[in-house]
Amino acid sequence: MKIPLVDLKAQCFSIRSEIDQAIKEVIDNTDFISGKAVDNFEQNFSMYLGVKRTIGVASGTAALHLALLALGIGPGDEVITPAHTFAATAEAIVHVGALPVFVDINPKTYLINPECVENSITTKTKAIIAVHLYGLSADMDDLRIIAKRHNLWLIEDAAQAHGARYHGLLCGNLGDIACFSFYPGKNLGAFGDAGAVVSNNEDLLKQVKMLRDHGRSAKYTHEIIGYGERLDTLQAAILDVKLKYLNKWNEARWNIAQKYNLKLKDLPIILPFIPKNQNHIFHQYVIRTQHRDQLLEYMKNHEIGVGVHYPIPLHMQPSFQSILRKQISLPETEKCAKEILSLPMYPELSDLQIDFIASTIEDYFRK
Ligand SMILES: *Cc1c(COP(=O)(O)O)cnc(C)c1O
Repeated sequence: MKIPLVDLKAQCFSIRSEIDQAIKEVIDNTDFISGKAVDNFEQNFSMYLGVKRTIGVASGTAALHLALLALGIGPGDEVITPAHTFAATAEAIVHVGALPVFVDINPKTYLINPECVENSITTKTKAIIAVHLYGLSADMDDLRIIAKRHNLWLIEDAAQAHGARYHGLLCGNLGDIACFSFYPGKNLGAFGDAGAVVSNNEDLLKQVKMLRDHGRSAKYTHEIIGYGERLDTLQAAILDVKLKYLNKWNEARWNIAQKYNLKLKDLPIILPFIPKNQNHIFHQYVIRTQHRDQLLEYMKNHEIGVGVHYPIPLHMQPSFQSILRKQISLPETEKCAKEILSLPMYPELSDLQIDFIASTIEDYFRK
């Protein structure tokens, strides 16, 4: 039995006719740039999250970039963020001319450790980017207290957290501004690149709206120097169809995670930890073991798609090492990167497949 890490086909085909219809409408209207489909999706995504407003942008990376610009972060500023995340989180900081300050994680949740954040604040610190990795929210209560105390902006990288809840509130409502990615493999994924910035702060979003479209305040008035980072209209139409299914798909991921938990609970591996009052949406189901490399090989040999998110922490990447002023060490991040393994996770994963994956892991530890 061959099982991929992510399978986008089953989901595409389950809603194919609705998607075809949505694409057809965009083509019939020929409003290919910032058309009705973009407005509709922005409204519906705002309603889903319970935020005041959504600005669709070209990607999750663009969302982070434009959010930092809207907050006025630039050269000379420092932004604190985890090194245990996708490169885009910290690339955006570099793109605006600021310096990423990498901090360590909580070894249980794999998320940014608020204590480490507080210890890394300097007079140059302007913002914190909290990453809700794997579908679990960062510890936003503690981060909000720290941000307030030191007068810092709190940004959510919610690229892996569409529908995740922290103390009842959906991710996207937990900081000053939040960034989503709709990369195809995300819990809400487009058929190409797409992203969004959301906030309850209208002034910030007015800025993002201008920035995404060449700084325009009116058709021929370029108020500020902006970018071409709009949300594609076809992608918006597709996302608007898929948004209706997001809760159902997240529930399916949750149920798959419960099945994994049950089948793997007696093995010498660490299963995903969920703090009280939080709702995990399992963008990834990540286990932890000191036998990671051997288990990874074993799973690959049995044609099971496993992944490592992420094997090289950002402070150890050549790209970021070239801009960091001094060598830093983040012990929990570095240990975690050697021990984590992502198992196949997508809403359509069948019981038969879950059984096969779990029994293959069991076989590895038995031999
Ligand atoms: C996917 C992702 C991004 C970047 O999103 P793109 O849409 O691929 O540009 C940023 N941060 C995190 C944590 C991500 O997972």
